Amino acid sequence: MNTKIWLSSPHMGGTEQKYIKEAFENNWVAPLGPNVNEFEKGLKNYLGTNNKVVALSSGTAALHLALILAGVTQNDVVLCQSFTFSASANPICYQGALPVFIDSEPETWNICPLLLEKAIKEQLSKGNKPKAVVVVHLFGMPAKMKEIKQLTQKYNMVLIEDAASALGSKINGQSCGTFGDFGILSFNGNKIITTSGGGALICKEETAKQKAIFLATQARDNAPHYQHSEIGYNYRMSNIVAGIGRGQLEVLADRVAARRSNFEFYKVAFSGISAIQLLEEPQGYCANRWLTCIVTSSFEMREKIRLTLEKENIEARPLWKPMHQQPVFKKYSAYINGVSDDLFERGLCLPSGSNLNNKDLHKIVTTIKDLF
Ligand SMILES: *Cc1c(COP(=O)(O)O)cnc(C)c1O
Repeated sequence: MNTKIWLSSPHMGGTEQKYIKEAFENNWVAPLGPNVNEFEKGLKNYLGTNNKVVALSSGTAALHLALILAGVTQNDVVLCQSFTFSASANPICYQGALPVFIDSEPETWNICPLLLEKAIKEQLSKGNKPKAVVVVHLFGMPAKMKEIKQLTQKYNMVLIEDAASALGSKINGQSCGTFGDFGILSFNGNKIITTSGGGALICKEETAKQKAIFLATQARDNAPHYQHSEIGYNYRMSNIVAGIGRGQLEVLADRVAARRSNFEFYKVAFSGISAIQLLEEPQGYCANRWLTCIVTSSFEMREKIRLTLEKENIEARPLWKPMHQQPVFKKYSAYINGVSDDLFERGLCLPSGSNLNNKDLHKIVTTIKDLF
């Protein structure tokens, strides 16, 4: 049987159902409860900082709340990495704000600090002081946080880190998601750990955490009746879903190790093929290798590999199509240097799940190598 090899599929650890069962037994079937509290605590411990963590219904919801807490409103300029998934940019538009897209640099494939400063200066000269910057640790590779933080401090802008795919990634031991004023995580079905769907907001202050919870639970004023002075959202994580999260946290370190080992396997396998390149970690960087991506010699080569894998029932996907190329975002300004356009043309994500076995990995590599 030629069973499908997925790009990145859920990988349960075994204790998830124990926490779900507890929730049922105690009738905590609600968007609050012990699993939510413990999941938040566990995440905070894993991240290893004094940051506060709020469990939410999705990473997108977390980004939306981060923008609201950053004070982003109608017609504000928000500088956003162009090479990303649309969920990094959509919440900017929910706020009626204006995304300005910034291209990537080749060492991490994330937002280019030089281009970012150019954009800041140009926007300032037009009288549009950017309110915030959304930086992404794409495919789990940390962005150049030192340079980016220097800029957000110099120009007094809020730094929001989209670490949706970077749980477990670090720079000099510091976790992605904890560098910015706000960070976000995702536990969607294909992420390094999953709660089926879910996310988290990471923030610095207890007051920010409380405000996020307030907004995520319909902004109810402190009164015996239902009273509202602000627009609220229904963004809190369910206690059932948080039970999955508690189980997944127990195996997170193994999941990171397994994904990193997939990357090493591919790297060794393709080491003799100059038409296939992989992204190395800069000094001091540790990527969780959520997805292993290859950069091929041309668009045609990329397609040849992708379609051959498809015939073998192996899922592979081109890298993200940059936001400045997306029909829905074409009308916004963009600062482009060609890096993400090129990666989109020549790049391919290979199956990278922590549940891939040796047979799967050998099949993928053999299928590709047979083309050379
Ligand atoms: C998955 C992802 C998101 C969105 O997270 P959801 O939980 O699916 O809403 C945002 N940004 C990036 C880079 C992602 O990979």
